[in-house]
Amino acid sequence: MGLQSRLSAVDQKIADAARLAGRDPGEITRIVVTKFHPASLVRDLHSLGVREAGENRQQELSAKTAALADLDDLRWHFIGQAQTNKAVAIRRSADAVHSVDRDRLADALHRAAEDDSILDVLVQINLTDDPGRGGVAPERADALAEHVLSLPSLRLRGVMAVAPLDEEPASAFARLRTVADGIRSLEPAADWISAGMTGDFAEAISAGATHLRIGSAITGPRPDRG
Ligand SMILES: *Cc1c(COP(=O)(O)O)cnc(C)c1O
Repeated sequence: MGLQSRLSAVDQKIADAARLAGRDPGEITRIVVTKFHPASLVRDLHSLGVREAGENRQQELSAKTAALADLDDLRWHFIGQAQTNKAVAIRRSADAVHSVDRDRLADALHRAAEDDSILDVLVQINLTDDPGRGGVAPERADALAEHVLSLPSLRLRGVMAVAPLDEEPASAFARLRTVADGIRSLEPAADWISAGMTGDFAEAISAGATHLRIGSAITGPRPDRG
């Protein structure tokens, strides 16, 4: 199966899951995660109509945005764990950062503003019991959101999470929904829920996800990086 048929098969499944959940498929944004694949694949996706791309490593994000600078209607989502010393490079390349999980990273992204632009950010929630995984603990999400709201060059858009491996995605996404509701009560415009990957996007859609981050179901298996 080629890229085009994988993309349309996924979009069909997204539409089916949305209808099943009583939702309008048009309110769901499908981000194609292209990590480890070459920039040429992103260009192919763009020619098929893809306008939202995701990367989880700063170096790859910077390289691809440079290689594809002519595609000026392509929006880039940074979805990986970020070191504060990469904030300038991330901010230069990303239209949205989904993985803000601590005050210091929010501060660094704010300080990285090079003009009067506003960067869309999401607070990443850790749905596991392992503090080593990315994301802020759910009970600290409101405090982090308040901190983001205090930084004028950042626009809080909502929450992001990855479902734990050892839990049903539906129950994990239900907890995310609760955190999302809390943050939306602080900032009504922060209504994005970034959740759902190749293995669990249907469950994410029924839990209210607005932004799906789908990689391998569309791109095919990732090239081996050793
Ligand atoms: C790689 C990645 C995805 C996409 O994963 P697939 O299982 O290939 O769809 C989504 N979110 C994050 C944070 C990722 O790193």
